[in-house]
Amino acid sequence: MSFNIDNLVRENIKKLVPYSSARDEFSGDAKVFLDANENSLGSPLTKWYNRYPDPHQQQIKQVLSTIKGIAPEHIFLGNGSDECIDLLFRSFCNPGKDNVIICPPTYGMYEVSANINDIAIRKAPLLENFELDLIHIEQLADANTKLIWICSPNNPTGNSFNRADIEMVLNNFKGIVVIDEAYINFARQKTFIQELVDYPNLVVLQTFSKAWGLAGLRLGMAFASAAIIEILNKVKPPYNINQATQELALKALEEVGQVNDMITELVDMRIALAEVLSTIPTVEKVFPSDANFLLVKIKDARKLYDFLLTKGIVVRDRSNVKLCEECLRITIGTEQENTDLVDAIAQWLNITTSA
Ligand SMILES: *Cc1c(COP(=O)(O)O)cnc(C)c1O
Repeated sequence: MSFNIDNLVRENIKKLVPYSSARDEFSGDAKVFLDANENSLGSPLTKWYNRYPDPHQQQIKQVLSTIKGIAPEHIFLGNGSDECIDLLFRSFCNPGKDNVIICPPTYGMYEVSANINDIAIRKAPLLENFELDLIHIEQLADANTKLIWICSPNNPTGNSFNRADIEMVLNNFKGIVVIDEAYINFARQKTFIQELVDYPNLVVLQTFSKAWGLAGLRLGMAFASAAIIEILNKVKPPYNINQATQELALKALEEVGQVNDMITELVDMRIALAEVLSTIPTVEKVFPSDANFLLVKIKDARKLYDFLLTKGIVVRDRSNVKLCEECLRITIGTEQENTDLVDAIAQWLNITTSA
């Protein structure tokens, strides 16, 4: 059975006539723009902010196309990956009828977005070694399973999944496989973007929020077949990426070298912090990480979390999450922040062992 995107798209989306913006109906050069009810006098800020932004973000896609080695028609940009996630639900999943598969513990937005869209969630928890449970995934998939969400490297466990396992899902599942690569720049694994030619059912998500250091701008990327990208474009709000974000992202894209330096530095500090943490007596395990954070299993995780707060240090408490019992998720900070963290944990040890 071959993959046919038409069988997956919601009927109402297939029939949808998308909103045609002023910038869609005319995008050439003109002297006078009186077509979009903008403020012709200007703005209190930089003068061009009175104009609507490019609804298709063509300049950014052009640059990304070179960096990622994929044509612009395979690129979609969202107001954060979170918008891409929501658009995938809205485009492919019929509320109250369809379902998706997630592999917890994983990124919380898949479930929240499913709930908002009234899509049933089926859970195939990771195995004890944090790898995909392929047999369980296969058992859960039925004719109404539209999406399988695979976060690799995974949040909060930090590991990349076995590449052959992901390929197994891509080869056998008849719906869409979404691989969320938010942390791919910190990983030893390579991206699945180059695999798009082989898999018409693949969507790869990446983001400017992590390695690029631009969480505040809200810019996420989806890479997929031209057919899937076309559907996302139809469903998205016309001007989903604002002018300021587009300009700043373009500037950032000129600084790939600086971003690569930060990635190297963060990975080095991740390795160093993992080493230091693993020498702490109450640390039971520092899980291997392909991301910019460490999942750390530690005695009395919640109490340590509270103590760190009193020192002004906030980490993520994952100790109530299945398979992450007694675990904290710690983002790699600056050199100084990492030192402060280790010092605070040492203080905690002194207090608890001398009591
Ligand atoms: C941080 C993160 C994102 C990023 O979401 P944005 O909306 O782009 O900021 C996406 N997926 C995962 C798994 C993340 O941890």
